[in-house]
Amino acid sequence: MKLLDGSLVAAHYKEKIKEEVKSLISQGSKKPHLAAILVGNNPASEAYVGAKVRTCEEIGFASTLLRLDAQIDEARLLKEIAALNENKDVDGILVQLPLPKHIREASIINAIDPSKDVDGFHPVSIGKLVLGQDTFLPATPYGILLMLSYYGIDLSGKHCVVVGRSNIVGTPMSILLSRNNAYGNATVTLTHSKTKDLKAHCLQADVIIAAIGIPYFLKADMVKEGAIVIDVGINRIEDASKKSGSRLVGDVDFDAVAPQCSYITPVPKGVGPMTICGLMQNTLNAVKNKR
Ligand code: NDP
Repeated sequence: MKLLDGSLVAAHYKEKIKEEVKSLISQGSKKPHLAAILVGNNPASEAYVGAKVRTCEEIGFASTLLRLDAQIDEARLLKEIAALNENKDVDGILVQLPLPKHIREASIINAIDPSKDVDGFHPVSIGKLVLGQDTFLPATPYGILLMLSYYGIDLSGKHCVVVGRSNIVGTPMSILLSRNNAYGNATVTLTHSKTKDLKAHCLQADVIIAAIGIPYFLKADMVKEGAIVIDVGINRIEDASKKSGSRLVGDVDFDAVAPQCSYITPVPKGVGPMTICGLMQNTLNAVKNKR
């Protein structure tokens, strides 16, 4: 079993991006600028946005973090997005999800200028992705592709089972893997909570991408010998042995599943850091697209 080390791979890509930023600046370009919007103070969202802002600093990007009150109404939030769309210094915009229940996520995502949609959630980005056109790929699937490419893992002809069909992970992942291109050409089964006999599907998989949001969901008896397992899940569970009283675990029962895998991602330090890489690469691409 080989561990797919998200921290190591992310460091590699971040270094590459940092070098490219230096070279762009030496050619007279400005720093890539990522603007993040955080509505409310959900602790997980705070942690994710904090990590994104820190990464910007690390790799030479400018960043703006707009903190907005949880009570903000949709119209006001749309105005903030319009201002960032207009701001010529801002190359990429991300709105940290989830948003409070009274705000319609789709209306906010749809308002982002597609040329600044570095999270890759806008319908224009997703439409282009489906058609195989150049676009911003959603950051988590993009990060997973970067990781597979780093390790030279070719999925062509492989049977991939994606568990979970969210708009931000499962669905775009399933489409990307099934495209006829360098990283795709897999045969993909997209599964969800209404799938009958999920275990039978998973047992046929050469590759399982788990994006469910249930701790330890994927058990050893659902995974065939030699499979590749990518664990997208980030779930906080109680752990009295930790100072904080909790810890992060994935959607895969890692200790039981890992021994029978050819490759597996850990949680934390698996897909999480790669998602940030996908976002940073998209932001750099946003700058390059303008040149
Ligand atoms: P969503 O909650 O949006 O979607 C979960 C999906 O899992 C749904 O499609 C749901 O099916 C499916 N599902 C739920 N229960 C079952 C079940 N019993 N059997 C089969 N499928 C099931 O989740 P996200 O995609 O947003 O996130 C998934 C996980 O990944 C979470 O832990 C999240 O924190 C994490 N995450 C991690 C990221 C990273 O960078 N590592 C980035 C984004 C998310 P249905 O559609 O039928 O309801």
